[in-house]
Amino acid sequence: MFLKGKTALITGSTSGIGLAYAKALAAEGAAVMINGFGDADAIETERKALAETSGAKAAYSPADMSRPDEIAAMVKACEEQLGGPDILISNAGVQFVSPIEEFPIEKWDQIISINLSAAFHAIRAAVPGMKARKWGRIINTASAHSLTASPFKSAYVSAKHGLAGLTKTVALETATFGITANCISPGYVWTPLVEKQIPDTMKARNMTREQVMNDVLLAGQPTKQFVTAEQVASMALWLCSDGAASTTGTNISMDGGWTA
Ligand code: NAD
Repeated sequence: MFLKGKTALITGSTSGIGLAYAKALAAEGAAVMINGFGDADAIETERKALAETSGAKAAYSPADMSRPDEIAAMVKACEEQLGGPDILISNAGVQFVSPIEEFPIEKWDQIISINLSAAFHAIRAAVPGMKARKWGRIINTASAHSLTASPFKSAYVSAKHGLAGLTKTVALETATFGITANCISPGYVWTPLVEKQIPDTMKARNMTREQVMNDVLLAGQPTKQFVTAEQVASMALWLCSDGAASTTGTNISMDGGWTA
């Protein structure tokens, strides 16, 4: 329970990797605010389970990460309802796969705003409190695509490369305040985000579903296995530990060897 007394705000945590972060942090005693879309009853059940696990409060924010005003209000609500946030994990993300000449402009704008700008707005709102408390952990879920490109994912690759740059800049600005800022960059994790991109990838690459699974999703990962959301969450826990106090401005790959 090394996070007892700390508060974590995790964006995009009603599903996939974000939910795994919330469960891992709550298991160490953190009060958590979850965020994201989904079925209201399922979210409320999850919120109650997180409070029970942590023995602390848990709250939910329905803020839309494409809306700067809602992001600022979410950080304020966290401060008022739970305290903190001491730990901010910007994790909400969406994906779209299309050849660039057909890439819908509104999809470009949406992906940049949710995957990149949302992290800027959340960090901007959370840093003053972290500086005042002289402790903070800023973690951004980037991707192997923050280091490597992939055809037909122009917006996502651009957003994730940008997120890595934002993280390094924030690390330098906050280093003397007991705050660290790091990216975790997973390879493929089997979540709804990955499942949803399969039909468009089949179309863009003229492949069968099986070819996409083996020749696109798993081909780049020498382990030939999906990374698990729990593995990613365990890295976030470590980044919150005392042992990680000097680890800032890094982009940590958890990609089964992909970027090697
Ligand atoms: P997911 O689809 O399971 O979860 C995405 C979460 O973001 C959900 O909770 C969803 O409700 C939320 N979300 C989406 N749009 C939102 C918005 N406008 N406002 C608020 N919340 C919103 O996907 P995941 O795979 O768990 O992805 C989580 C993060 O991990 C993303 O940033 C993604 O880019 C990154 N990532 C995923 C993989 C992978 O293979 N799954 C690999 C590398 C990085």
